[in-house]
Amino acid sequence: MDERVREILENSRYAVFFGGAGMSTESGIPDFRSKDGLYHQKYPVSPETILSHTYFMNHTEEFFRFYKDKMNSLSAEPNPAHYALAEWERRGILKAVITQNLDGLHQKAGSQCVLELHGSVRRNFCYRCRKSYPAEAIFESIGIPTCTCGDVIKPDVVLYEEALNPETVNEAIFHIENADTLIIGGTSLTVYPAAGYVSLFKGKNLILINRDPTPYDSAATLCIHDSVGKILGM
Ligand code: ZN
Repeated sequence: MDERVREILENSRYAVFFGGAGMSTESGIPDFRSKDGLYHQKYPVSPETILSHTYFMNHTEEFFRFYKDKMNSLSAEPNPAHYALAEWERRGILKAVITQNLDGLHQKAGSQCVLELHGSVRRNFCYRCRKSYPAEAIFESIGIPTCTCGDVIKPDVVLYEEALNPETVNEAIFHIENADTLIIGGTSLTVYPAAGYVSLFKGKNLILINRDPTPYDSAATLCIHDSVGKILGM
């Protein structure tokens, strides 16, 4: 881990990490929204359209064709940054990881308190009877994944037009409001709800790590324009 970040963490009592897509790129998972990311290939409508609630309801088969093709991160492994955060949690300093990613890599690396704002590809439920299914039930299905009751199995992923889980949001806000150190990494802080969360932080140290500048760079105690995976994992 970068020495400047390490020193701040060693002097923190309640650190929180907020991560975006950049956290997973070092694990080989492309950034949803980047120009060369998975949203700009071989599909006639935009990925934002496909990954919307309306499209899921009206074009279920096409939705799953895209989803199974582009969202399968099951074989991805955590990178050193994921492991570093899990270690800081074991030391009692990092209290929560808040993530916009769907891949479950923080848990795979050993993190316990992980708040997945946009859900996870690893949880899936029948739309009607709520029976739970592993990710393989989706990714290894042919056509539309179907429950034993006959209805569709829906990934527990927050689609466009859908609300975030209020409990997850409240827990995330609780941690940010109590933190003395907030590390934000791998997000441009322009996508809802990340931007709003920064203003809730009243602690001492705001660390921003992102390849590109963000609107909050000037508010940061420490701002590093580099890959978050590299900076935390080095
Ligand atoms: Zn069912």
